Amino acid sequence: MKIVLKPWQFNLITCCMYLLFAIFTMQALQTLSTWPPAGVALAAVTLFGRKAWLGVALGSFLAIIYYFHLYNLNPFTFNHFAINLATSTGNTLAALCAFNIMYKQIVLHNPLKRVENVAGTFIFACAAMGMVSAIFGVGIYYVLGLEWFDGLFFGVLNWSISNALAAIAISPALYFLWRRWPHTMTTQNVTQSLLITAITVLCCYLIFGPGYTHFDLPILQPSLILFPLLYCAMRLSSTLTSCMNMLVFCLAWIGSNQGWGYFYQHHAASAEITLQFFFLFIFAVVLLVQAVFNQRQDEQEELTRLLEQRVEERTCQLEYQKQKALKLAVTDPLTELYNRRGFFKTAHHLFSQYLRHPGSCALLLLDLDKFKLINDNYGHAMGDEVIKNTADILRHFTRESDITGRIGGEEFVVFLPMSTQDDATSLAERIRQAISEQQVTLDNVTVQYTLSIGVSTFEQNDKTLETMLKRADKALYIAKNQGRNQVQYC
Ligand code: GH3
Ligand code: MG
Ligand code: MG
Repeated sequence: MKIVLKPWQFNLITCCMYLLFAIFTMQALQTLSTWPPAGVALAAVTLFGRKAWLGVALGSFLAIIYYFHLYNLNPFTFNHFAINLATSTGNTLAALCAFNIMYKQIVLHNPLKRVENVAGTFIFACAAMGMVSAIFGVGIYYVLGLEWFDGLFFGVLNWSISNALAAIAISPALYFLWRRWPHTMTTQNVTQSLLITAITVLCCYLIFGPGYTHFDLPILQPSLILFPLLYCAMRLSSTLTSCMNMLVFCLAWIGSNQGWGYFYQHHAASAEITLQFFFLFIFAVVLLVQAVFNQRQDEQEELTRLLEQRVEERTCQLEYQKQKALKLAVTDPLTELYNRRGFFKTAHHLFSQYLRHPGSCALLLLDLDKFKLINDNYGHAMGDEVIKNTADILRHFTRESDITGRIGGEEFVVFLPMSTQDDATSLAERIRQAISEQQVTLDNVTVQYTLSIGVSTFEQNDKTLETMLKRADKALYIAKNQGRNQVQYC
């Protein structure tokens, strides 16, 4: 359940449930050889934490008053009051003791989910819970000098088992019913639940109920009850399984107290203790099998999650590598501008839009002046530095929408969308000037260099980018011939 209850609220719920289960035990089961309220106490501390102790204590106190009242005894005589106080203290401490044993599992996850938690913690916590409440409940009789009817040892043993068994049978059902509320069920879930309940009730009728006594079916041995329960544990939900456990437990006890069923037919004298051990075994098996399946399902889900994560990571890596390879194929490694291929691929795409919606666009073709001399005089490393410096300046002066590439050794080109002749020549002039003023230094050697730029713009009868490029080349040729370090338009 998602709502967070205040302590007084969950304590009140615990107290009422404890009392209700106690009345049910005394009225319907008519026995104290099992004590279902112990299941309420364990479920309460598991769900609400240590603070639920008050609800357990109060519930237990009122239940014992009800017990004395039922047997026409005065609950407020010294002895009875002392018995009540000791028993209630024992029940409360027993629940807290079980809480402490399961604390880690309660905080981390569902204490019934993993096999080792069920086997090593839950069943042990239930046994410890029975033992603690038995020591207080039976012990007080000895303190007061009263005789327990079948001796201290059997008293403690019986009381322990009655509490431990009820905790194992009842608390998982209450835990899951509360924790998973509200239960959204499909029609198939409802049908399955009804069917398995009907089969379980029928089995109980034939094994623990009047069916066994009246029809005397020798084949219906008690262990057959494992079939519907294990089917639930392996195929259906934990909630349904634990509810079936609780149902079987109550029906078997009601039947046996009517003198019905297998155990009364075959072990009349020891029916109660036989039933206790029988169900301790059955429920432990069912809970363990359920935990095995839960754990396997969890592991499967974890594996699937890991696998999906791996696939996703690998896909990301591949996509990244692909993008990197694609980028490398169109990038000039020295300047990180577009290479020849990249430039023409991108510029062609843009240029084709101008064919459909004519507008103005321009092209700059740039060539470093006397670059061969720089290489010859200062070495290739300086030549490369100059090329990189030119690329940096181009990057600085161009816009995001412009396309800049290095299409030859020391030849660059810039495609300027939505630019007129004036825009293009003034940009070319600014670039030319910036470069002529720039000094490039490598290993304490400084050079200054210039470049020439040919500019062309889109004309109505241009069908390809190459025609524009031809005119820019022509302009560049003129610039070179007229003394370099200048911008020409053609
Ligand atoms: P101009 O254009 O002014 O007529 O003279 P230039 O000396 O620049 O002419 P040319 O085109 O003949 O020389 C280009 C030189 O660029 C030739 C080649 O050695 C050099 N070059 C080409 N690619 C690279 C490169 O990647 N790095 C370096 N350092 N030099 C290169
Ligand atoms: Mg040159
Ligand atoms: Mg050249």
